[in-house]
Amino acid sequence: IRVQGKIYYDKAQKPVRILGTVLDITEFKRLQQQKDDFISVASHELKTPMTSIKASIQILDKLIRTGNNPEKISTFIDKASTSLNKMQHLVESLLNVSRISAGQLELTKSRFNVAEMINESCDYVRLAGDHEVKINGDKGLEVVADKQKIEQVLVNLINNAVKYAPCSKQIIIEFAQRKSTVKISVQDFGEGILSDKIPHLFERYYRVESSGVQYSGLGLGLYISAEIVERHGGKIGATSETGQGSTFWFTLPVVED
Ligand code: ADP
Repeated sequence: IRVQGKIYYDKAQKPVRILGTVLDITEFKRLQQQKDDFISVASHELKTPMTSIKASIQILDKLIRTGNNPEKISTFIDKASTSLNKMQHLVESLLNVSRISAGQLELTKSRFNVAEMINESCDYVRLAGDHEVKINGDKGLEVVADKQKIEQVLVNLINNAVKYAPCSKQIIIEFAQRKSTVKISVQDFGEGILSDKIPHLFERYYRVESSGVQYSGLGLGLYISAEIVERHGGKIGATSETGQGSTFWFTLPVVED
């Protein structure tokens, strides 16, 4: 509690009146703490790929000076480029959060084919070759939406399915139209999420605390995804069973262009 005020005295310097305010700052302190924690997590998340890029450049410098070793050179170029992509993704998330706060998340809608968009969004997982991605749905289905942003939502969900289910090799993506809504879901067979955590997943900065493996992340992907889906007039949610896996889904209204 913060107390601010002024004491009034009489001629004999005896206090006669206090005028002031008593402010409950518990919530303010919680938000301040959340911000401080976020800054420290974000700095750490940016520092890790930066350190890796720096190390790769130093090694590349040596390799190039000491003659040709093309295989090693391309390994370290790949490493640096993966770390750069990670940094780019993090910075884009931060920019998106400030756009959302400023009410500047603009949508540029067009008509596109859902199956094609899903295929494009999971190309990189297929290329990595660690996961099998199954896609089920009506190949002719089309929606009117901001394709780039919906792709961003899907990539966030697919990234999480890969990240939080490291031991399982399968991801199932399904999409279907029911009445005037298209529903897209991404299912993994990972560790799952406790049911009391599910309502918080889409909050800004929220991350499920884990006593086991520590995963990297800022707790922004699902928050940004929810904002994008809701701006389209859709809904987003998750169902999960611990030890069995999770299904994240979102809907988009079918609108005519
Ligand atoms: P980040 O992955 O950067 O922490 P997200 O907003 O994408 O942030 O996810 C918030 C939290 O939700 C994660 O920290 C994780 O605990 C949980 N989560 C998200 N997707 C999954 C998933 N597929 N399986 C298990 N937990 C998940």
